[in-house]
Amino acid sequence: MNAPLLPGAALGVMGGGQLGRMFVHAAQTMGYRTVVLEPDATSPAGLVAHRHVAAAYTDAAGLAELASACDAVTTEFENVPADSLRTLAERVPVAQAAAAVEICQDRAAEKRHFQRSGVPCAPFATIEHEADLAAAAALLPGILKTARLGYDGKGQASVATTEELAAAWQRLGRAACVLEKRLPLALELSVIVARGRDGALVHLPVQQNLHRDGILAVTQVPAPGVSPELAAQAVDCAGRLAASMDYVGVLCVEFFVLADGSLVANEMAPRPHNSGHYSLDACDVSQFELQLRTLAGLPLAAPRLHSAAVMLNLLGDLWFPDGTAEPRTPDWAGVLALPGVALHLYGKTDARRGRKMGHLTVTAADAESARATALRVCECLG
Ligand code: ADP
Ligand code: MG
Repeated sequence: MNAPLLPGAALGVMGGGQLGRMFVHAAQTMGYRTVVLEPDATSPAGLVAHRHVAAAYTDAAGLAELASACDAVTTEFENVPADSLRTLAERVPVAQAAAAVEICQDRAAEKRHFQRSGVPCAPFATIEHEADLAAAAALLPGILKTARLGYDGKGQASVATTEELAAAWQRLGRAACVLEKRLPLALELSVIVARGRDGALVHLPVQQNLHRDGILAVTQVPAPGVSPELAAQAVDCAGRLAASMDYVGVLCVEFFVLADGSLVANEMAPRPHNSGHYSLDACDVSQFELQLRTLAGLPLAAPRLHSAAVMLNLLGDLWFPDGTAEPRTPDWAGVLALPGVALHLYGKTDARRGRKMGHLTVTAADAESARATALRVCECLG
């Protein structure tokens, strides 16, 4: 485990989504071989890896095949069962480790980790039984979230009264949930840190995020509404959260900035994150290269932002302008005629509303120009 894995080694990925695809690209750029375990035959990462093991995340034979084909394994999908990561770790180094992934998979465990690490989070209550509802009512109005498997705003309900809380819990199938107090948000930001085997920590610049319908829509770097002091505080919290899990890998921590200027942790992702995609085009080291370096045990160089960036998510909705039934290809040629536009499409064949099909990063010498071009991109895409 101590000598670094050098180019030529084989690196495995649990999960075949776009994050895995961009990791595979980064690994291949440096001359590593790549293997993806993913049940879907045409996944974004499976399509570009040297080898695709088509198996369920819990399939013993598939896991054995991945372990024997690789010198180390990472994960791109936070809902890979922690036990599968443990099984792999008996045979091959795994980062991010099962214990950390397990914390991030459960909102209640995640919040306890925030508290343990001295990082403020929203007041919350766990709801597992009918009787927990009455005790949680003091937090209303709030947001009820399933403890597990929620993403992109799915598995959530905004609730104002005890009746709405009870009804929403029924609708969520009486699954284990957390109820969070609804906080007055001034803005949202996130920070990506990478922590090496030796405990070395580096971070990307803090990014400011705008969500629409619970899905990330726009990321801006440098973060226009974030003071250097607040950014330093977010970086410090994220570093503490990583260190107190003895984390190796890339960790993203999402924060709220409240109306009074205070910083509150929202959630963590034990992997690269959609809000860090700009780093591919605007930094000298991307979040995927950081994932590669932590996995392979290579040195971590502090990333440098060389351009201002605006990242726009490209959802399947763009294929259905004005509510059309038949999908239409967006005007990519028009978009690419604008300066500083980098288009990333994930190779997903069928566009669906709310589905992340790709993203686009506008880079420029200054934030004002990046924003101006991003507005022209939006006009072009309708
Ligand atoms: P997901 O796992 O789907 O990303 P989040 O917990 O990050 O879920 O919530 C999605 C979005 O909902 C947040 O980015 C934020 O805009 C809003 N939100 C979530 N929790 C709260 C809260 N306690 N108060 C106010 N807004 C919230
Ligand atoms: Mg989130």
